[in-house]
Amino acid sequence: MSIFTGPVFDMAAQQFDRIADHLEVPADERARLLYPKRAIAVSCPIHRDDGTTAVYMGYRVQHHLTLGPTKGGTRFTPNLDMGEVAALAIWMSWKCALVGLPYGGAKGGVAVDPHAISHVELEAVSRRYMQEMIPFVGPHVDVMAPDMGTNEQVMAWFMDTYSMYQGRTVTEIVTGKPVASGGTEGRREATGRGVVFLAERALESRQIAMNGATAVIQGFGNVGSYAAATLAERGARVIGVSDHTACYVDRRGLDVPALLAYVARTGVLAGFSTELLADPDDLLATECDIVIPAAMERVIDAAMAARLRCRVLAEGANGPTTPDADTVLAQRPDIFVVPDILCNAGGVIVSYFEWVQDLQQFFWTASEVRDRLNQVLERSFHAVMERATRDGISTRTAAMAIGVQKVRDAKKVRGLFP
Ligand code: NAD
Repeated sequence: MSIFTGPVFDMAAQQFDRIADHLEVPADERARLLYPKRAIAVSCPIHRDDGTTAVYMGYRVQHHLTLGPTKGGTRFTPNLDMGEVAALAIWMSWKCALVGLPYGGAKGGVAVDPHAISHVELEAVSRRYMQEMIPFVGPHVDVMAPDMGTNEQVMAWFMDTYSMYQGRTVTEIVTGKPVASGGTEGRREATGRGVVFLAERALESRQIAMNGATAVIQGFGNVGSYAAATLAERGARVIGVSDHTACYVDRRGLDVPALLAYVARTGVLAGFSTELLADPDDLLATECDIVIPAAMERVIDAAMAARLRCRVLAEGANGPTTPDADTVLAQRPDIFVVPDILCNAGGVIVSYFEWVQDLQQFFWTASEVRDRLNQVLERSFHAVMERATRDGISTRTAAMAIGVQKVRDAKKVRGLFP
């Protein structure tokens, strides 16, 4: 299966092997569980503002169709490739199964730097990508959502492009849309809020109060910024933040509302302060109660795992911790790991709520969304804790074992097709 290559795919495969060993999955069942059902590559030509034509590669991987349609984010990043997209789709499958959503995992995106093109060009890439995907997606086939480098506006363009092709408005084709065009209350903040909700459960299990706790966050986009806002609301002190342009640390606590207002205006952290600038390579190793990686994969390797000085590692990003780092963390009971497929599940849970509301054309209030999100997160957290305690395994192994086992059980009763 040589199209699935690269370090991120290798990591997803290595993690899966560990879980398959733990669950004693026979060798002949493994490839069927791991390898995606479908992988699509398209080229997306657009007219650039200067009159030239540019072509960007687009991808979509649909991991399995055993439990319902596939569901997953769309990422616009410069070096995206099929291996990375496949890994993210696989993680989505375990995540959806873990929290009990009727979806297989998917992921997709375009190899483009959204910061390096104009707004008009971004619209053209977004619409062209969805146009190319029309034969492969649908409200009961595959439903997209935002991820790195995409946002509500991009989802609105996706929805509009698909709808124009159908000749009617099909809001349920994507989630993470603006509320004004069929989105749900509470989706924008769902992932970051969910991360903090679960970090608080983890702190409680260590008898640490959120009020007065200290935190650092890597990444200040959708997930990182809403995590910061929620931490500040809950009385925690955010002492370090970073994005791809700057890193700031202040042990007295950063001014979160000022940071949020600044990024809302400029799009990035660069230029917020000169006195508070810090080395981004040291951010995750800052002594604090909660570390939240909320940017990209593989930022915590074995060396970084040994340097961590936190009580809770709450994984907002997908795949921030390598299997080698997990081996180190297994020897560090001082750190409570809230694994990515649990920790950042708030996003897909509220995406599921959005899809259900769009299908029914019956919309919920913000507090209904929040209460139901918290119920699902609470239930999933306890399921993971119970499994980890019962089997004497890490929280990551427990979370993945629950997810993989659910997909495996469903495949067993259905047969080979889906
Ligand atoms: P985003 O594009 O909104 O933000 C990404 C942030 O990461 C930006 O602030 C960017 O500057 C920063 N970043 C990029 N490179 C960096 C670097 N080298 N060092 C520090 N910061 C860097 O993306 P997002 O939606 O917030 O997604 C972040 C992570 O969370 C991804 O792993 C994504 O898959 C995961 N995730 C997102 C959602 C969601 O609902 N958006 C849900 C689940 C998981």
